[in-house]
Amino acid sequence: MISERMKNLHPYVPGEQPKDRVYIKLNANENPYPPAPEVIKATGAFVKKNPMKLALYPDPDSLSLRASIADMLNKTGGVLCRASVSGKKCEPAQEDKIPFVVTPDMIYAGNGSDEVLSFVFYAFFDSANRLVLPEFTYSFYPVYAGFYNIPTDVIPLNADWTLDTAEMLSRAKANGSGIIFANPNAPTGRGLTRDEVRAMIKSADSDKVFVVDEAYCDFGGESCIPLLSEFRNLVIVRTFSKSLCSAGMRLGYIVANPELVNTVTTVKNSLNHFPVDAVAQAAGKAACENPWYYAECARKVACERDDFIRFLSENGWNVIPSQTNFVFAQKPGMGGEEVYQRIKQEGILVRHFSTKGIEDYVRITIGTKKQMNELKRVIGRLQSV
Ligand SMILES: *Cc1c(COP(=O)(O)O)cnc(C)c1O
Repeated sequence: MISERMKNLHPYVPGEQPKDRVYIKLNANENPYPPAPEVIKATGAFVKKNPMKLALYPDPDSLSLRASIADMLNKTGGVLCRASVSGKKCEPAQEDKIPFVVTPDMIYAGNGSDEVLSFVFYAFFDSANRLVLPEFTYSFYPVYAGFYNIPTDVIPLNADWTLDTAEMLSRAKANGSGIIFANPNAPTGRGLTRDEVRAMIKSADSDKVFVVDEAYCDFGGESCIPLLSEFRNLVIVRTFSKSLCSAGMRLGYIVANPELVNTVTTVKNSLNHFPVDAVAQAAGKAACENPWYYAECARKVACERDDFIRFLSENGWNVIPSQTNFVFAQKPGMGGEEVYQRIKQEGILVRHFSTKGIEDYVRITIGTKKQMNELKRVIGRLQSV
């Protein structure tokens, strides 16, 4: 009754969304701020003015949305928290300027970056070569590898939680395979510089696709978008869920050379012709047209993160440096499960992974100042017990 391939399915377990009680939710790296007011307005107006657009199929290729995404990347350099804002204008920081114009044919848009990633796995990796990925990274990668029957080669991190780039490269060469990782990485929060990634891609096999997942880049990483003019095998995956305050909207995209965008589009057209609904296209477009708002949100989150890291260190926790909207930290003398449970009892959800090697840590999403003050109070009491 059940297919053979079901044996390879080990589904991803997302952060819990409990209904029993109202928690302060710091467990899924969502943004604590709502979308820009312009998005709320545009979404309401879209539905009101165009009821027939809900009856008809949406643009299968999200053309207008992709143009807006490209425009936003050109305006922010792909790192919102450093973009400078004056009034409603947004300019990339000097170090983030992209040395060419990102065009809509370099963007593929889909139903959340999880779906986009699934198409990327399908399009570029297969069962013949062991795909190289870090041991602790986004846990959806091994899930897709199982789904598509792609063998993996899992490379342990360095002792300081950075990627072992030399080992990843040498294994990718030996395997004749592609590479995937998140930059900055999750759940560790550490990132590679653009120069470090450039050095990696340079010595990797140029016939294999090299995937960099920039889900958290807007909070202070270095985007690899500028490298697209140098490498035809680079695929950058990004999402609206974290820095664009839209996890409920389900929008994700890749930035890559048009040839690879076309390949992913072929996969899409073989599975689901219309992954991005009409309302999400309108809302996503409005979001991209107001990057200044999200730049402010990202800056607030980054400030709060740095403040929280200081707090944890002062309270004796081990904290991994973070360029993201979360911190990965450990309280000496208390297991991660217990820390998670005791914080939960106080009405705050954080994320604990029981995976061996990181079981002593918890991943804490950065919330508003008010939420973080509440968490600090709870953590302070955790100390004194
Ligand atoms: C959150 C996250 C995603 C998924 O984002 P969606 O667009 O919500 O599917 C992808 N990659 C990484 C590394 C993430 O942390």
